[in-house]
Amino acid sequence: MFFHLAWQCAPSHAGDMPDQPLPPLPPAPVQDLITTVLRQRFGLSGLRGQQPAVIARVMAGQDVLALLPTGAGKSLCYQLPCCLRPGLCVVVSPLLALMDDQCRRLQALGLRAMALRGRFGAAEQRSLDRSLQSAGLQVLLVSPERLLSAAFLERMIREARAGRLHLLVVDEAHCISEWGNTFRPAYAKLGELRQHLPAVPVLALTASADPVVERQILAALQMDAHSVVRTSINRPELFYRVHRRVSPWRHALAYLQRWHTGDAVLFYCQRRLETEWLARHLVTVGIPARPYHAGMGIIERRAAEHWFLQAPAPVMVATIAFGMGIDRADIRLVVHAAPSSSLSAYYQETGRAGRDGQVATALQLLPPMHNPHWPDPDSPIMQYLHSGDCRRRSLMAGFGEPFAGACGHCDHCCPNWRPLPRWDGHDLAWVPQVGPVDGATGGTRTRMPDGARF
Ligand SMILES: [Zn+2]
Repeated sequence: MFFHLAWQCAPSHAGDMPDQPLPPLPPAPVQDLITTVLRQRFGLSGLRGQQPAVIARVMAGQDVLALLPTGAGKSLCYQLPCCLRPGLCVVVSPLLALMDDQCRRLQALGLRAMALRGRFGAAEQRSLDRSLQSAGLQVLLVSPERLLSAAFLERMIREARAGRLHLLVVDEAHCISEWGNTFRPAYAKLGELRQHLPAVPVLALTASADPVVERQILAALQMDAHSVVRTSINRPELFYRVHRRVSPWRHALAYLQRWHTGDAVLFYCQRRLETEWLARHLVTVGIPARPYHAGMGIIERRAAEHWFLQAPAPVMVATIAFGMGIDRADIRLVVHAAPSSSLSAYYQETGRAGRDGQVATALQLLPPMHNPHWPDPDSPIMQYLHSGDCRRRSLMAGFGEPFAGACGHCDHCCPNWRPLPRWDGHDLAWVPQVGPVDGATGGTRTRMPDGARF
């Protein structure tokens, strides 16, 4: 019964409406099977949001570009079909660390999964053949470079011709736009797969794509506009704040010490030296911090990632090399010391805060003088940062999504809002400052301590 309801779930606003009608409901025995798998393997009582719309299309063999924000359950959109269908699903994943993590999670769900890393020589080919033939491999994680290599592609073409390759997933599909023309040209070439694997449906997943990025993904993967299933990008739990400051470092330190001691914090800097300098400085004042950037060795980076996931209140001072695939839900603050490269990148980076659904802050520090290394002053990200309007409305407008009224949860709507201290379940001394707010996707509640000023 839940499945019937989920299949026909009413979208919460116009932006949630899939562009095509849903495929027909699967037969009752399949619905029962889906219900059982969801409960037994995933511990879920049902699907939510746009998951039914995406999964219905995947099960029907259609192409889908799913734009689902962080926490909306993107992975389930291919994991569930993999549990239900025989054959192989290939997942294109951008980072080795992310691939390993995904592989462990798939195996924990009882799926036969492997990550193919490094070269694809004779030994790797034999290992893959064994996994495919005798072990019944269900999910194969690969980098785009590996997928497009001649030997591997030839192997996949054989699987597709034999009817054993049922789905190709492009995870973090916004990388097609961000990396496709720079240091990961393989991303831009993923469309070539359509010529080689014409009968294999493609599921592209990303947390966000502005209209330009969306068009680039569709073009690169040779999908049409009717393939898009989107949900609102609104993250009501995030408080957006932009501070123009002459001394951003001092301001950031004061902000951290006053409002976020004991919290997991992600601090984005533009340059590697800045991450090292600031992390050192934070440690000297008693804040547990580490730097992270692409210039560090692989062992050092893995150690830093592990520390960030395990430490009770870590402050990671990083370049944008850090963050993708980091599975820590209780990050309470994401700071940007410089503008992100694009509005889409800003949304992805700030979206790492508050994944547990609790209130978190996205703090942008903005020195008064424009830096030549920043995006163009007329770019959407700079227009957002300099906007005198509600941050949420400006941000969502950049993605082509309207937001009615004022959000009540940004520095424009609520300039005196302060982060909550960590709630221990007993402190009732806080009073609500802002009640439920009407918006395109429902309300949010924020609070501030009495008389708090900063
Ligand atoms: Zn607002």
